[in-house]
Amino acid sequence: MSLRIYNSISGQKEAFVPLKDGEVQMYVCGVTVYDRCHIGHARAGVAFDFVFRALSYLGYKVTYVRNFTDVDDKIINRAAEREISCDELVKENIDAFYEDMDSLFLKRPTHEPRATQYIPQMQEIIKTLIAKGLAYQAGGDVFFSVNRFPEYGKLSKRNLDDLLSGARVAVNESKNDPLDFALWKAAKPGEPKWPSPWGEGRPGWHIECSAMGRELLGEVFDIHGGGKDLVFPHHENEIAQSHGACGKPPVRYWMHNGFVNINKEKMSKSLGNFFTIREVTQKFDPEAVRLYLLGTHYRSPIDFADGYLAEAEHHLDRLYAVAHRAEKMLAGTKGEMPPEMEADFTQALEDDFNSATAMAVLSETVNSLNAECDLIERKKGDVKKAASLFAALMEIGGVLGIFNRPAEQYLNLTRKKRAAEIGMSEEAIESLIQKRIDARKAKDFAEADRIRNELTEKGIELKDSPKGTDWSILAR
Ligand SMILES: [Zn+2]
Repeated sequence: MSLRIYNSISGQKEAFVPLKDGEVQMYVCGVTVYDRCHIGHARAGVAFDFVFRALSYLGYKVTYVRNFTDVDDKIINRAAEREISCDELVKENIDAFYEDMDSLFLKRPTHEPRATQYIPQMQEIIKTLIAKGLAYQAGGDVFFSVNRFPEYGKLSKRNLDDLLSGARVAVNESKNDPLDFALWKAAKPGEPKWPSPWGEGRPGWHIECSAMGRELLGEVFDIHGGGKDLVFPHHENEIAQSHGACGKPPVRYWMHNGFVNINKEKMSKSLGNFFTIREVTQKFDPEAVRLYLLGTHYRSPIDFADGYLAEAEHHLDRLYAVAHRAEKMLAGTKGEMPPEMEADFTQALEDDFNSATAMAVLSETVNSLNAECDLIERKKGDVKKAASLFAALMEIGGVLGIFNRPAEQYLNLTRKKRAAEIGMSEEAIESLIQKRIDARKAKDFAEADRIRNELTEKGIELKDSPKGTDWSILAR
């Protein structure tokens, strides 16, 4: 099999054929930096980070562009509300963006352009559109003429009549047709502005991505991604502008990630069920957030609730615990991922980046590795086999973006947290374990068993070995 991608514009999974053999050019719409990132941004971020890692794993040389929208109505309004400059607001939120996305272990894209660095390129496209009769000036504004572009609505599967009946006509707007959208907006007093052939002003939102994509990836590129909420009007308008200007469809594969629901309701600020990334990562381990998000295929909606994240954390505990166990037993023995596992994993990635299936392969790997470790402990195992399963675990984990920390470090960190969850300190647990050891030495096996049962009831599992007694807290 080879890579297949669900293309939003055809509504089908299609064989992926890149423009240049072995290379992928990918553009993903970034954030408008007027506020802190929320869990919806985390989903899009992690989804396309996974796509980026998967494409690289599959052997492609990927050029990945993710932009910042740093001039927009929302930025202007928020800066005014807070009585700071747009520049200050933008800087603050770009810094916060990096803190959040780094905390989730997102790989940095190849290019991270800011819209305001591409104003001349935007103006070039606008000039071309005017020259072709696809855009017109009205006062200091320039609008795209939607009815001059016959393919409008192809991505979002809307037709012009339906759009027209739903369009609101604002009386103070100077456009010819209610569906037309702004490419350039005349400056209002106090707003950021740039000189242009149509007077001082600033770009519309959609033209930004058309200009940055074209400048960094070319007139036509392989993949354009973003959240489902961007299909209309943002991506529809991007197609109209770019196709209108260069005469061909700008994007070969459109990819859109699904929404995030909170406790089965649509996440929204007005419902108050709204979480920033940092609120979530203060409560849950960031790699568990990744595991949770990747447990659902990127196109499906995902339900976000504390209980699911707690489950993902215990899943992560087990992954690290087995990795740690194997690491100690292998003592540096190296192996390579078993071919059958590699085939299963590749197949999952090639099926429209099916992270949920990829995670099933990960679970299978961790179970086999743990079983092999059991055998090695009983002197019946095969260290070479364990080493190749361990290599598979690390390789698959790497594409999912986990195992970013040494296992020992992670386990020490979470033992404290797990102990606190069951209302005990690590010291209290260890002192009970010591009492059990003393009881056994004194041959008071009844007392030793009583202590063990007490700990088991609390969810603490003991593992005795010649080196002593190790403990871990089981998933509830
Ligand atoms: Zn965009």
